[in-house]
Amino acid sequence: MCSTDFEIDAGWRGLFDTHAHLSFLDERGIDGKKCAAALFEAGFAGIIDIGTVAGDLGSRIAEFSSFAEDGRLHFAAGIWPWKTAIAEAKEQIALLEREIDAAPVGFVAAIGECGFDRRENPEAPDGERALLEAQLDLAQRKRLPVIIHSREAPAETIETLAAFPAVRGVIHCFSYTATEAKTFVGMGYAISFAGNITYKNAGNLRDALLSVPPDRLLLETDCPYLAPVPYRGKPAHPGMLLETYRCVAALLKMDVQELKELLKLNAETVFAANA
Ligand SMILES: [Zn+2]
Repeated sequence: MCSTDFEIDAGWRGLFDTHAHLSFLDERGIDGKKCAAALFEAGFAGIIDIGTVAGDLGSRIAEFSSFAEDGRLHFAAGIWPWKTAIAEAKEQIALLEREIDAAPVGFVAAIGECGFDRRENPEAPDGERALLEAQLDLAQRKRLPVIIHSREAPAETIETLAAFPAVRGVIHCFSYTATEAKTFVGMGYAISFAGNITYKNAGNLRDALLSVPPDRLLLETDCPYLAPVPYRGKPAHPGMLLETYRCVAALLKMDVQELKELLKLNAETVFAANA
């Protein structure tokens, strides 16, 4: 079943989704273009549409560029640590750089997502780190922030990012504890929490949230994955981010409007082009 009509929720006004895969929505039964139209009509403050493979940027821009023209939708371009990408890192990085150079000025706001995944790559292949390092180098050369994916690999992530002290960005879908959050913050990174912070068993994430300085905090859907409670298990779209804002506002003892203003400012600071 395809959801083609979106009940616009007034609560969507002012939300900023720092990590959405809009081009994955269609295959999960959500019309991505209609969804984006509804979100921006409702007054969404911003969305960063995330890349996972070299060569996907052109088609994402072709599909969603009409929403990018007023500056509320931006694109990230990067290579997730797929085994196939690791095996062809040199060609993949060259393609990534070419597509970033070919994009309209101001559309690309970050490199990513890129990083380590110990579920996909339990054997920790050598080339995984090299693929990330090449993207950190690209971020440095293009003066763009990075969006870091790090799953079950905190030490390697910290060590690799520390070798690029001039690069800044965000640890997306943060999955560790307050200890790692403080380390990443100390290195200049922002911490982004996804819908799983609303899950019953996510006490470590809620503790980590409380350790993040307010000016380093971001929220995201990672849609179509990780729908927040009460949508858990369903395909997610950026409108569901309102539930994550509500949960986080309660934890921080802020009102939702105050949180919207804070996170818009934070996102604009992290993703400011050529900052
Ligand atoms: Zn993602």
